[in-house]
Amino acid sequence: MTDPAQENTQQFSFKAETKQLLNILIHSLYKDREVFLRELLSNASDALNRLRFEMVTNQNVVDPKAELSIQITADKDTRMLTIQDTGIGMTRDEIIENLGTIAQSGARKFMEATKDKKVDFSQVIGQFGVGFYSVFMVAEWVSVTSRSYRPEAEAVTWYATGEDNYQVSAAAMSERGTKVQIKLKEDAAEFADEFRIKNIIHKHSDYIGFPIYVGDSKEPVNKQTSLWRTSRQEVTEEQYKDFYRQTTLEFDEPLMHIHMVTDAPVQLYALLYIPGKAERGLLSLRKEDGLKLYSRNILIDEYNKDLLPEYLRFVQGVVDSEDLPLNVSRETIQSSTLMMRLKKVLTNQVIRELETLAKNDAEKYQTFWQEFGGYIKHGVATNAAEAEQLNSLLRFKTNLHPESWSSLEDYAGRIKEGQKHIYYIVGEDPKSVLRSPHLDYFASRGTEVLLLTDPMDSFMLMGLRKYKDYELQNVAQAEIDTSEKPKEQAEAEKIPEADFGALVERFKQVLGERVTDVRASNRLSQSVARLVDPEGALNPELQRVYKYLGKEYEVPKKVLELNPTHKILKSLLKLDSGSDLQTAIIEQIYDSALLVEGLHPDPSSMAPRMQQIIEAALANMREDSK
Ligand code: ADP
Ligand code: MG
Repeated sequence: MTDPAQENTQQFSFKAETKQLLNILIHSLYKDREVFLRELLSNASDALNRLRFEMVTNQNVVDPKAELSIQITADKDTRMLTIQDTGIGMTRDEIIENLGTIAQSGARKFMEATKDKKVDFSQVIGQFGVGFYSVFMVAEWVSVTSRSYRPEAEAVTWYATGEDNYQVSAAAMSERGTKVQIKLKEDAAEFADEFRIKNIIHKHSDYIGFPIYVGDSKEPVNKQTSLWRTSRQEVTEEQYKDFYRQTTLEFDEPLMHIHMVTDAPVQLYALLYIPGKAERGLLSLRKEDGLKLYSRNILIDEYNKDLLPEYLRFVQGVVDSEDLPLNVSRETIQSSTLMMRLKKVLTNQVIRELETLAKNDAEKYQTFWQEFGGYIKHGVATNAAEAEQLNSLLRFKTNLHPESWSSLEDYAGRIKEGQKHIYYIVGEDPKSVLRSPHLDYFASRGTEVLLLTDPMDSFMLMGLRKYKDYELQNVAQAEIDTSEKPKEQAEAEKIPEADFGALVERFKQVLGERVTDVRASNRLSQSVARLVDPEGALNPELQRVYKYLGKEYEVPKKVLELNPTHKILKSLLKLDSGSDLQTAIIEQIYDSALLVEGLHPDPSSMAPRMQQIIEAALANMREDSK
């Protein structure tokens, strides 16, 4: 006699990586074995969520009236534990795919991640798409019997002991959903104890949005409200962090969370997080940016990008609104006025919370700024609706406070009597920018200048023209506020006019087309020369933007301004006019000016000339000492 079930049984072999993973799980002694229950309940909850989503549009399912719930039964004597849900279920093909084949890449990644023991295994197994296998930490064998919601599908059983193979056979189950039966190992008998089970649920799965029943009790064990719908007072820091890890698939702690509940102008719950780092962990499995969007507890979008502006795309978390209609397509949701309102409310809240953070915890805000400042600048650059508010989030280093971060408000508070502008200088890095000749004049007067050395700064400036009543002005612009008269340079120190005129001619000869003019400047004190923009030039920020964008980049033609009191120029006059050395020094003065502007296209090209100048200087010394 042949058993019809037997006849239907098919044997499969796990893939190599999955075998390895199972082997580790079976033989290692993990102290947090209880997390297997969290993983199975999370799968049941996913399955219920998916069914609920399906039923929004399709009532033609098995058991349409069945309660969406999870039932756990346990028997200490036989060490059997059963977890049954009324979720979406699996067909034969799906069960093979989901529990047999596809897990292998996740298995490999998981093993890599936990190899160095730095990552807590029990925290993260669920993040690799292999959470189900954690059951083999406690199971002698597992059988999963499932009946898909599709009326035509047939029930199926998957069975494995954690060794190399698993079996799939036809099953007799009339009700929709999935039943996971576990024969517990001898040393895992504790998990057949109802009291222990309830404790684990409270600890790890309290917020699952479907009732979990244990044993004969008609009372659900779990709270059921999702964390974001729970009032702030009831949620602990630990729960916020846990939730972050579970929803964002990050291992690190978040920098901060924003938990909001509003009724007007829209009804919404949101639990948002600012991650600890801008870059996602190397092992992070999160595929995209975006927020999880729920409506009435149903997940309608995993990675929604329309709820926050582009420049806040680093924010992660969940948004849930009762006002969103369920039975419309994602495209319609996207463009609805409700979405716009949600976006506005969320954006304002995030900015407000960041302002508060800046006020209350400067150190944490600094971390935020270092990680995410570029995003905020992006917001300013794109002239976001919130640009004004965003300005208050900006932080700068300045020539007077090069080590700390100042806000525009700080700057404005320190501004001197009569100063009408906020000055800034753009350059490559904070050190070299401090040596810029453009700062000479400001340094001598003790005027504060913002140091803008981040590539994003040039973009930001396109949207940041003014703060309060102060217009922003680049110190490299030839004509600065004329009302602020520079100190008169001592006439006696200047090179006589006729000599200076000859020198200017030499410069023009040597530099030719590369400069639009050469002239004297009364703004320089320490520096020998500087480059300024001719009238009507493309503004310097834009020049840099082009450079960063990798657009065809030509060194912009500028005016070379010379310091008529400078020693170098005086010595230069003493050299034979037209000599190689004089020419080399003129070239070098121009190149150095380009360099401090951050505009030199090929700095290493200066090396041979420097050598020439050094050789000449040394030869000169020998001559002097003769
Ligand atoms: P993940 O949940 O991250 O996808 P798991 O290893 O926990 O990874 O589960 C693998 C897959 O098995 C799930 O994605 C799902 O398709 C399927 N599955 C597991 N448990 C159930 C269940 N109770 N009901 C329906 N499908 C399930
Ligand atoms: Mg899972």
